[in-house]
Formats: sequence, structure tokens, C-alpha cells
Amino acid sequence: MSAMTAQYVRIERLGAIERITLARPEKRNAQNKAMLESLDAALKRAGSDDEVRAVIVAADGPDFSAGHDQKELGDDYLQRPTVERYQFEDRYYLEIALSMRNLAKPVIVQAQGACIAGGFMIAAMADILIASEDAYFSDPTVLLGSAAVEVLFHPWALGDRLARDILFTGRKLTAIEAHQRGFVARLVVRDELESTALVIAETIAKAPPFAVQMMKRSLNRNLDAQGFSVMMSAHFDTHQLVHTASKSSASAPDRLANFKNLVAGS
Ligand code: ZN
Repeated sequence: MSAMTAQYVRIERLGAIERITLARPEKRNAQNKAMLESLDAALKRAGSDDEVRAVIVAADGPDFSAGHDQKELGDDYLQRPTVERYQFEDRYYLEIALSMRNLAKPVIVQAQGACIAGGFMIAAMADILIASEDAYFSDPTVLLGSAAVEVLFHPWALGDRLARDILFTGRKLTAIEAHQRGFVARLVVRDELESTALVIAETIAKAPPFAVQMMKRSLNRNLDAQGFSVMMSAHFDTHQLVHTASKSSASAPDRLANFKNLVAGS
């Protein structure tokens, strides 16, 4: 096993498996720019290394991720020029999330505790999502004046009806319900989260890699043929429109306070 540390992310090579661990537990793995750059670089390395056959994305501490780092964005985030914000979110939120979805090799996410907004989004990019019983998923962004997170994965991953329920109300989807609805592939006790992810990754790593990669390519194309990729671009633009419109509604500090309350209370 070899290990290296990038900023806010830990990378380990476990045989043919690359495990990327979000390592900012004191901030509930809030995704700042540096963490997202590290995640992106690690995914790209794993994608181009023939010896890597499966990728695990994990997280240190009690929570998978409380979402994008609102503090780093700052209170004036919504007041900034539209073009600046568009380019920033395009690079850090849309592109990096989709690079996980589009990685040639299967990505297994192991999630515990809070998976909120951007944390929910990253977890949803998994080919196989494993959750411990304490995990929950929520996207309360519409309550804060945003049209969901940047990637509208919800109806694809949860079905249209459940997506409407959780997006309009911001309610938590427990790991148990998420498992019943097929979003979580395997539901395990917390102590078995890591070992379950490894067993699945090892099973994938034993299969001929070209067959595995082509399987993923074909499954992604199956969704793309139904409009997935076009819809993600369209939603991203709609999401940006609402950010711009939000300038003239509740003040950004109010929204930030609301967000902190929601995250703290969830
Ligand atoms: Zn946004």
C-alpha cells in the first residue's frame, strides 16, 4: 500500500484500488477549492493509470460532506459578477462532479453521516453507493434561494416523484429510505462501511478491466441517450440564472445564516 496526501484529501493505493478520502473532518468535509482540486487530480490520475481498476471515495470523521464551503465563498458570493460565478461553478462544481461520473473506471462511494447539498451531489456521482445506517442525504438549497445544486442528478438517481418531494421540502432522505428506493446500493452498519466498499472494489478489480470500462461506458451512454448530459448542462444554466436572480431577494448574509442553521440542525 502506498499513500500520499494532497490538500484536504488522502490518497491510498490498495492493490488495484485507488482510495480517495476527503480529509477535512473538523469542517465536516466542507468542499473548498483546494479539496476539489485534489479530488479532481486524484480522479484523473486514477483514470489514466492502467493499474487502477476501481476507485473508492471515502471521507474521514462522522460526516461524508456537509457540502460546498460557504465560508470560503464568502458573504458577498451572490453579489459577484455573473460571469465570475458561472465560470467558478462550472469548473469546481459541475466539471469535477461530472468527471467522477464520467471516469472510465467504476467509482464506489462509501458515505456516513451528513451528505448535504454538494456532499449529496458527490455521493450521487458514484457507480455504486454504499451507506452506513447513520447516513442521510439532503438538498435544502431551494429553501435558501437556489434551484437545487449544480448537477440535477436527483430525478435520475431517485425517480421524479421522490426528487420533487425532497427538493421542494428540503427534507432528509435517510440511508434506510434511500436504500429502499434503490439510491443506496448497499446499506451496512458503520463498522462495516470500509470493508464492504473494499470487497466490492476488489470484486470489480478481478474482472477484465476493458470489459468493466466498456460496461460503464455503455451504462453512461444509456442515460445520455435519454438526455442525461444535455439536461445537466441545461440545469446548470438554470441554476446560474437563479443565483443571479437571488441578488435581489434575501440578503446573502441572511441566506448564509439560514444555511448554517439548516446544516447545524440536520
Ligand atoms: Zn451554485
